[in-house]
Amino acid sequence: MKICRCPVCENSRLSLFLLRENVPVHQNLVVECQGSARDVTRGDLELMVCGSCGFVFNRAFDRSRLSYGEAYDNTQSCSAYFDAYLDDLVRDMVERQGVKNCTIVEVGCGKGSFLRKLVNYPGSNNSGYGFDPSYVGPAVELDGRLQFSARYYDEACAGIAADVVVCRHVIEHVPEPLQVLRSVRAALALSSRARVFFETPCVDWILRNRVLWDFFYEHCSLFTAGSLGLAFRRAGFAVERVSHIFSGQYLWLEGSVANVDEALPTDVEVVSLAVAYSSDEQRMRRDWLQRLCSLRQCGKVSLWGAGAKGATFANLIDPDCSLIECVVDLNPRKQGGFIPGTGHPIVAPEELRRRGVSSAVLMNPNYREENIKLLESAGIELNLTDWSE
Ligand SMILES: [Zn+2]
Repeated sequence: MKICRCPVCENSRLSLFLLRENVPVHQNLVVECQGSARDVTRGDLELMVCGSCGFVFNRAFDRSRLSYGEAYDNTQSCSAYFDAYLDDLVRDMVERQGVKNCTIVEVGCGKGSFLRKLVNYPGSNNSGYGFDPSYVGPAVELDGRLQFSARYYDEACAGIAADVVVCRHVIEHVPEPLQVLRSVRAALALSSRARVFFETPCVDWILRNRVLWDFFYEHCSLFTAGSLGLAFRRAGFAVERVSHIFSGQYLWLEGSVANVDEALPTDVEVVSLAVAYSSDEQRMRRDWLQRLCSLRQCGKVSLWGAGAKGATFANLIDPDCSLIECVVDLNPRKQGGFIPGTGHPIVAPEELRRRGVSSAVLMNPNYREENIKLLESAGIELNLTDWSE
């Protein structure tokens, strides 16, 4: 049954602004053979925008189609730029936001690298508990200052006296984000002074910049600063501030446990952005097609970045692999694999020369400088272009 009320504010003033049928449900799956890459599970993207709070969600999302198992890999830290970004975020939390002498819980900790940075930060004296149902690894590290559990963080974990809860890039994967926030709130029932830090993509940024490949199945819940703040207040948190980070692409929410009155939803500018985006999408797809065709006249073309953005772009613009030779990625686990849905080969930068590739479209301009340096030091000649040009 399709959702007819906004999962954040329960209003029914919803409009459909983006429809893509039969898209791969996973963008970050590591697929080792081209046949199975083309044979992945598919689903529909029916993005709705709420006219009351500005929340964006996929009303056709079906969680049972997804499996975040062994073959799922969204590691970004193969990039020195991204790793430096995480170091800056950790430094900011410890130095500016005072996350010191704290018991930190990370919800959806993945392999624990961010939590490890927070606990290892010199002089911070922090300890950490990481929760992730897909966690694989040692349960205890750093003489017990760091512990991991392969489970969800919910009211059963209220025994942990948490000072800080951090959760990065989780709620956009959840169709009922309020449920997750309420269960985090319930887990903090005995931690009345706890602070929370959440990071998630900003849908406003995607719409304004017309980043068509930032809408995909894995992200079923997308927030504006306003709808994110509202979701937290409705779940029983006070919101100190919501800011933009990672060159505007992500939202960073700082909040605390409180009993506050819900503010009325007011953020609806995103609705007109969504309408404008919607009327523009077909033209943008044609423009990209044209751009690839003209790049092809000077030689073979690749994409740079085989994460969700690259996989979505490949599926949108080149579903039958006739224009894009391959997709470059620095993650060794992805190299030698294939893009889910289309079957484009994923290769290391060194492979570009052998394949005779002369240009690459960069999926995220934040990585531009890093990749230009990498190409220079490897002596690879490549015309690296991106959407911001
Ligand atoms: Zn709403």
